[in-house]
Order: sequence, then structure tokens, then C-alpha cells
Amino acid sequence: MDFLPIFLNLKHRKCAVIGGGEVASRKISLLLKVGADITVYSPALGETLRRWVDEGKIKHIAQEFRPEMLKECALVIAATNDMAVNRQVSDTAKTLGIPVNVVDQPDLCTFIMPSIIDRSPVTIAVSTGGRSPVLARLIRARLETLIPAGYGSLAKLVEAFRGKVKQKFKHPPRRRAFWEEVLQGRIAELAYSGQDKAAEKALQERLDTADGNKPTVGEVYLVGGGPGEPDLLTFRALRLMQEADVVVYDRLVSPAVLELVRRDAERIYAGKERDNHALPQEDINHLLVRLAKKGKRVVRLKGGDPFIFGRGGEEIDTLAAEGIPFQVVPGITAAAGCASYAGIPLTHRDYAQSVVFVTGHLQDGTVNLNWKALVQPDQTIVFYMGLHGIETICRELIHHGMRPTTLAALVQQGTTRNQRVLIGTIESLPGIVAKAKVKAPTLIIVGDVVELHGRLRWFEPTAAN
Ligand code: SAH
Repeated sequence: MDFLPIFLNLKHRKCAVIGGGEVASRKISLLLKVGADITVYSPALGETLRRWVDEGKIKHIAQEFRPEMLKECALVIAATNDMAVNRQVSDTAKTLGIPVNVVDQPDLCTFIMPSIIDRSPVTIAVSTGGRSPVLARLIRARLETLIPAGYGSLAKLVEAFRGKVKQKFKHPPRRRAFWEEVLQGRIAELAYSGQDKAAEKALQERLDTADGNKPTVGEVYLVGGGPGEPDLLTFRALRLMQEADVVVYDRLVSPAVLELVRRDAERIYAGKERDNHALPQEDINHLLVRLAKKGKRVVRLKGGDPFIFGRGGEEIDTLAAEGIPFQVVPGITAAAGCASYAGIPLTHRDYAQSVVFVTGHLQDGTVNLNWKALVQPDQTIVFYMGLHGIETICRELIHHGMRPTTLAALVQQGTTRNQRVLIGTIESLPGIVAKAKVKAPTLIIVGDVVELHGRLRWFEPTAAN
């Protein structure tokens, strides 16, 4: 981060604005919203500022800039069209230790102004670190559409009930669960639609009927974290990650995805490295039960999709047996992610009418698969966990009648900045891979569709490291 986002309390604090044109008035309109004591220093005033002076909203002193003007100021804005004056304001403010913003001259600023989504008291500030105000504005436009205009009413309602709710729910996780329920349900909807009184009444009723001491059983969300690129998460996955008390995650979950988990959530690593399971499956199953029984909202975050080679079924089986509520959130499985990002459609009318997902995990040095069923015309085969068995896999395919010239691709860390795609035939790929020093996780795609990579590849990232 280049800048520290903070929210300043400027109520009744002296703020100086040097310059009296339209640009100055835009900045002043923001200062007015927060109740600052504003004085404009400028020989001439624009129309808007003149009106505000007449209305008594701001003060005006018709003078050129002098350093004394900044005495006891909490904040300074320079908005003149004279570079030399702007620089002088900036230098003076810096010497006095006063935060200064010079319009359109980032090098002279000690703070920059974000794009703002105002749902007071909820305020969202967006910054691109001064790199692109246009981008910040576009982000703001998207957020404006996402966040109901009534968010402010909801925040006021929360404020009014905070003390009472704290009184009733002494245990913080229960208190949070109460608020989460309130803030996402009917009461919130009433506030959004401007029915503040009805919302207040409903909240009071909800509070009266809630049992503050009854331990609530938590819930487990089995969430697919996708193949690595955070943009590929579902909205639902993201929301639950943001609401979790605890996240139990695998090695396959990328750091960028993990970064999106609620900051205060406890993070538990459950391992699952090849042949080095940090926690045995049995322990993970029981850990989830234990956490949920403590009333926690648990996100069990898995790479890809939880129901595809993810042992998701086993984990929720234990939960079901113990009567713990759970939900399953699908994720983009590695085959889908890697295929898209490598430009290899898994089916195509001219090349393949079916696709099979299989595990290439070796057991006792052999890959125990129904090779006959795999070696079929017009079929794409996707091998998960196939890197270590790649030689055996390719050998067996040829042995069971597949053309040795059949194309095959190995996709390393698909969808991420470290994605690499190695192309060969089932005869040559093991040799190519052996020389290439590939990094896990990798996926192997076998079939004529691999030919399309040459024409359809579109994602060629610059490696992050
Ligand atoms: N549930 C996961 C798969 C777990 S098995 C899913 O649906 O994707 C683990 C295997 O998935 C790895 O050995 C590798 O073959 C594959 N895999 C997962 N993420 C991958 C990625 N980003 N790139 C390539 N392969 C990946």
C-alpha cells in the first residue's frame, strides 16, 4: 500500500483552502459535509463559492497566499492555477506538519482524496494511490450499484441498539451471530426500503425473543475456492469467507484467495500435500464438528470444487451424522479453470464428444485405472494428481491402444500468474516435463482438443516469481 486510508474528524476544525475557483468548490463541498470550519483565501471567488460565503457556510479572505494563513489549521487544500503558489502552500504545510492536498499535483500532496461512496454514517473510500482517478471512479460506480442506498439507515439502527444487544449477548460470537442474522434478513430489508420505524420494532421484538445464553450450534460451509485466481470465486464463496469465524484450508488454496478471508478469522492449515497430510482426514472431519459445536461459523475452504477429488463428501458425512448444519458451495474445478486459461476446450464438435476426469494418483507405483474405458475415440481425459505418475500414465495409454501421436498438455498452476502450459504427445510429454522443472499443482489433458491450444490460447501471464 502506498497510502494509509484513514478517516479524519474535522468537525469545527480550521481548514484552509487556497484558491477560489470551481476546483476549490468541489473540494470544499466535501469539507462542508464533515462540518469543517472553512476559510477560502483567494483574491477572486467563483460563483458557487460566492453563494456559500453569502449563505454563511464558509469564510472568505480576499488575499494572496501568505504562510501565516495556515496557522492552527487541521488541513490545507491548494487549488490555485499557479504552480509556484501551490508549491509554496505545500512547502509551508509540510514544515508546519499540516496535511496538504494540492489538486492534480500528487508530488506536492501529503494526502490524496479518494473516490467516495456516501451512505453516511457508512462511508466507503476508494483509491488507486493516485494512479488513475478514472479507474477509482469506475470502481465507485460499481459499488454505488451494489450497496443499497438505505445502508445509512441500517447503520443508524445498529447504533441505536448496540448497547442493548451487548447487554443481552455477553459472548462475542453469539452477539456477532445475532447481528449477522439481523443485518442480512427482513430487518435489513425494512431499513433499506426506508421503513425505519418498522425496522426498529422488528429488531426490538427479535431481541426480546432471543435467548442470549443458549449456545447456538455453528454451521460449516464447504466452499470451493477455485483453481487459484481470486476472480474465479463465486459471490457466495466470497460472502461466506467474509463472515467466517474460522477457516480451515488446504495447501491448494492460493494465497490470493486466502487473502480474501475476513481479517479476524482464525486460520487453520489442514495440509494435504502429497504424501504429507498435515492433518489426517479423520482429524479434519472431527475438527470441523468440534468448531461448529462451539458455535463457530466454519468455512472449510478447498481448492477447486469440493466434490471433485476433494473428499468433500467424507467431511460433510461426519457433519451430517453429528447433526451439524452445513452448506456446500461449488467452485471452479481445476479441469475447467485450466482448460479455459490454456485455451483447450475439453469438448469440441470436431474433436471430442465426451470428457472424463480421473485421478492419476499412484498407489504402490501403479495407476489403478480402467484404461480400456479411458482409451476411447473422441474423448478427452483430464488427469488430476498425475504429475508423479505421468510416465506410467502415458505408457499405459499407448499400451491400451491410444495413438502415440495423440496430443497431451500439462498445465502448471492453471489460472494463476505462474501458469505454464507444456505441449507434447503422449510419447514425448513425460520427457518434456522431466526437463522443465514444473511446480505443483499440475493437470494433464490428453486428447485431440489439445491441438486447439495453438489457435485459442489467450492467457500468457508474466510469472509473479
Ligand atoms: N477439488 C480440486 C482437486 C483436488 S485434487 C478441484 O476441483 O480442482 C488436487 C489436484 O488438482 C492437483 O494435484 C492438480 O492435479 C489439480 N489442480 C488443482 N488446482 C490446480 C491448478 N491451479 N492448476 C493445475 N492443476 C490444479
